[in-house]
Amino acid sequence: MRLQDKIYHSIREDFQLNSQMVISALKTVTARYKTTKEQLSQNPYRYQDDKGKWQYITKTLEWLRKPVNFRIPQCDLVRNRNYRLLSNGKISITTLEGTISVDFLAPPEWQTLLNEGWSLGTAKLIRQNKSWYLCVPMSKATEPCEKESVKNIVGIDRGLNFIVATADNSNKSFFYSGRAIQHKRHQFAKTRQKLQLKNTRKSRRRLLAISKRENRWMSDVNHCLAKALVNHYSADTLFVLEDLTGITFDEKILRETNQQRNDKRSWAFYQLEQFLKYKAEEVGSLVINVSAKYTSQRCPNCGIVDKAQRHHNDHEYRCTCGYRTNDDRVGALNLLELGRRFLAGDSKPKFVKTKTISIAD
Ligand SMILES: [Zn+2]
Repeated sequence: MRLQDKIYHSIREDFQLNSQMVISALKTVTARYKTTKEQLSQNPYRYQDDKGKWQYITKTLEWLRKPVNFRIPQCDLVRNRNYRLLSNGKISITTLEGTISVDFLAPPEWQTLLNEGWSLGTAKLIRQNKSWYLCVPMSKATEPCEKESVKNIVGIDRGLNFIVATADNSNKSFFYSGRAIQHKRHQFAKTRQKLQLKNTRKSRRRLLAISKRENRWMSDVNHCLAKALVNHYSADTLFVLEDLTGITFDEKILRETNQQRNDKRSWAFYQLEQFLKYKAEEVGSLVINVSAKYTSQRCPNCGIVDKAQRHHNDHEYRCTCGYRTNDDRVGALNLLELGRRFLAGDSKPKFVKTKTISIAD
């Protein structure tokens, strides 16, 4: 608001923009600087002092050598003020040369969502690859799912062998194999690697196109997966996921891959979580995140935490209490247990390692 007070009028005069466009520009720029500021503070400058101790200095915006750049022309459009759906199937948009009405291409589910009562929010008009895109957020109010009305609990473990493994309170498990997905990712990675070695203008362009195609494909997989999970269980289901912040996956696999691939994998898991959250909310179910600590090492039967009981070579979890199960199920079963504790009133359920007593023979 302070910035707006200072420069609103001069921007309007200098660039001949309408008032909405000026406000949109100010909003977009301040939002980008806020993000940049946050990112800077997350990566502090560090150095070793004469005693060899690491010193950290939080970075501020002064650390930027260049101002934040905007390469894609964009503008926010407020519904029914700057853009409007017309009864003839076109869309009207306010431009610097007055209001124009244009044809548009929409994804197939667009009309269904409109019929289901989803409302349109402030859209962003962007220009990319010589085309204009209108990104329209859609929202719908839902009844929040109350803890008291939960009928099912489902623990969902995300991993590599199985993209998701689930366990529910009727003791059923589902596995969605990750092998086909891993295979396809591997192929994408191989093509990317070849193009990277070439390093020509043309190969760089193709590299970008391939990355985008991979992202679209992964998003589609996640959409289908989230949809299948939500539809399989009725409303009033509590889905329990592990909190992935700061988590690295199976260390053995990590050593063999590089950071970039791991980032991509985390991104895919994070996206699945986002999709699951909104799809679950839509039908009146709930998704919670719980601490991932010991969820892959704890015996679901007796509660002992022991990494050695998980046998990677034959994919089995074997406990001293006699309990045995497929090792991919262990995580899901433990998440299910944390879900039960959540419903029982523990707002931040997590496992702690208890001392194991070994009995000498
Ligand atoms: Zn046990």
